[in-house]
Amino acid sequence: MDLTLSPQEESFREELRAWLAINHPGKEPEGDEASFEFRRDWQRRLAADRWAGLSWPEQYGGRGATLVEQAIFNEELAAARAPSMANVLGLLMGGPVVIAHGTEEQKERYLGPILNADEIWCQGFSEPESGSDLASLKTRAVRSDGGWVVTGQKVWTTLAERAKWCMLVARTDPDAPKHQGITYFVMDMDQEAVQVRPLVQITGEPEFNELFLEEAFVPDENVVGGTGNGWGVAITTLMHERSGIAFALQVQLKVALGELIDLIREQGLEGDPIVRQRLGQLYIEAETLRLNAWRGLTQIMKTGMPGPEGSLPKWQWSDINQALTELSMDVRGLEAPRADSDWTYRFLRARANSIEGGTTEILKNIIAERVLGLPRMR
Ligand SMILES: Cc1cc2nc3c(=O)[nH]c(=O)nc-3n(C[C@H](O)[C@H](O)[C@H](O)COP(=O)(O)OP(=O)(O)OC[C@H]3O[C@@H](n4cnc5c(N)ncnc54)[C@H](O)[C@@H]3O)c2cc1C
Repeated sequence: MDLTLSPQEESFREELRAWLAINHPGKEPEGDEASFEFRRDWQRRLAADRWAGLSWPEQYGGRGATLVEQAIFNEELAAARAPSMANVLGLLMGGPVVIAHGTEEQKERYLGPILNADEIWCQGFSEPESGSDLASLKTRAVRSDGGWVVTGQKVWTTLAERAKWCMLVARTDPDAPKHQGITYFVMDMDQEAVQVRPLVQITGEPEFNELFLEEAFVPDENVVGGTGNGWGVAITTLMHERSGIAFALQVQLKVALGELIDLIREQGLEGDPIVRQRLGQLYIEAETLRLNAWRGLTQIMKTGMPGPEGSLPKWQWSDINQALTELSMDVRGLEAPRADSDWTYRFLRARANSIEGGTTEILKNIIAERVLGLPRMR
């Protein structure tokens, strides 16, 4: 692909940079509540000027931006170290899925509050016995008057404690082959039958939750994509999750590499041949990731949809970020185990990178089978 930007794309970048120079909110405050409200305000500021749902159609508050403009947007925000937006799952997955599969009423109902972060979304896919093999999920939805009654358990549900809506996949036909008996619901979290219990990660943060559903009700109008079509809708969600983040991730890595170089200098290790070699390797891999992000984008431009190649940058990013934060621990020597350090936090948080949004092993399987055309493993 030709990586030269057109004059329109260059001027899009200039407009965004000028906007960021005026509107950047500064450094995120510490503490869960303060940081969430800060990121909510930030999202509202972006939404007011139609940046939050950049790719969404203009009639739903977006700019109908091209893929290249979205890539530029993600690069610029990461380079400016702008905070992430509060309604991250709604923007990355909920909105795009409603736009792709939702009815006109659903678009009118959900898209505005996603953009303004008035209604937070979470993703209820994983279950205790169904993570990588999502199609084996057991949560049941049974027909009832005007809707569905849902019973089961979800796990690792990020943002469930704040969410108004849950993108929920549940089994509606236990007799159908496992990929065909699943339906995609938008479930109201605000009901007695939905219990949220926090789970604490290795970082000490309760970033995600268990979700217990005891006959929760979902009305018919909250089915997205039709009964029994949930697998296809869920795949759209995951493809959007993986493809949309590649550009932001590659720039975040470059920013983190710059910070690591500063740290290495502070520690007086810039002349150490092993440290230099590891740093050089990280730089090469980060650059390969950037080029693969563009390759993924070329593929979307050809097919109109994110495809299996979106799995490659996610895998690469998690490998590089884990290696980068491991190097930061090694160069900090005796300081490394200090729990109050940002580098220690990053090192611990990076362990989840190769699990969240699809494990590395699963991504490798997808690439082997669906990109390289190798025989199926089983
Ligand atoms: C920080 C974080 C946030 C998350 N947020 C959410 C969320 O908001 N909503 C949500 O629904 N889920 C969420 N998840 C869950 C995540 O999607 C799952 O953890 C992931 O899909 C893996 O599923 P599992 O944990 O059940 O592991 P398993 O699927 O049980 O896998 C266990 C191990 O076996 C390997 N394995 C499994 N199958 C194969 C195979 N066929 N070939 C080779 N190896 C295999 C895996 O790679 C892994 O190493 C989150 C996870 C994390 C870490």
